Amino acid sequence: MPISIMLDAGHGGRDPGAVYNGRQEKDDTLRLTLAVGEILQNHGLDVEYTRTTDIYQSPYEKAMEANNAGVDYFVSIHRNSFPTDNVVSGVQSLVYNLSGIKLEMAENINDQLEAVGFVNLGVEARPNLIVLNRTKMPAVLVEAGFINSNTDNALFDENFDDIAQAIASGILDTLNHPDSVPDPSVYYVQVGSFRNPAYANRLLNELLEQDYTASIVEGDGFFRVRVGSFENLEDAAEMEQDLKRAGYPTIIVS
Ligand SMILES: [Zn+2]
Repeated sequence: MPISIMLDAGHGGRDPGAVYNGRQEKDDTLRLTLAVGEILQNHGLDVEYTRTTDIYQSPYEKAMEANNAGVDYFVSIHRNSFPTDNVVSGVQSLVYNLSGIKLEMAENINDQLEAVGFVNLGVEARPNLIVLNRTKMPAVLVEAGFINSNTDNALFDENFDDIAQAIASGILDTLNHPDSVPDPSVYYVQVGSFRNPAYANRLLNELLEQDYTASIVEGDGFFRVRVGSFENLEDAAEMEQDLKRAGYPTIIVS
């Protein structure tokens, strides 16, 4: 199954985001998000978008859209702003906390953008951002340069394709060569729980013969037979239905 990602063009509709000399963040983010999505799609990812036009959605609606779609990753694209014009420039990525594959993805995106010419302002934890704390999957918010920096805007306009490619490469590098274990949202479908290991083994062999990826975990005096693991709940639920149809009593555990 291909990896799925939801891309979010920051702001939209009646929320322009940051504005500088008539330039609106929501327009830059939409254009860049669509360009990144096209590259990811060409690399075999399932790409979904919170918006592809100039519409308003609250951050909460954006997060729920990702959760309801059950995507594996969420990347929100923004442009930054500083209280004083032309003082700060550079790229920055935000994550819920500094751990796991989302941190790795944020670092890879920043590194790629640095190679295009941006100052790399690093990765910051922002536990209070709704699109980072209400999304159930690893989520990264990319600030692709400051909209009130002439330096960053020149980079953005002159190297637009390279910037889209940089963000896509940062995402793809992370998925192809993850250094860290994925976030601990791993699910199994439990098919049986026995005190007698012989019964557990019998069920295990029966499942293995039908090509299920079954295993036994021992704990609290029980031998639990389970199928998996699955990195998202949707896949586990699909397997659960499959096993139910085959006549097994099942529950999903994580
Ligand atoms: Zn923004």
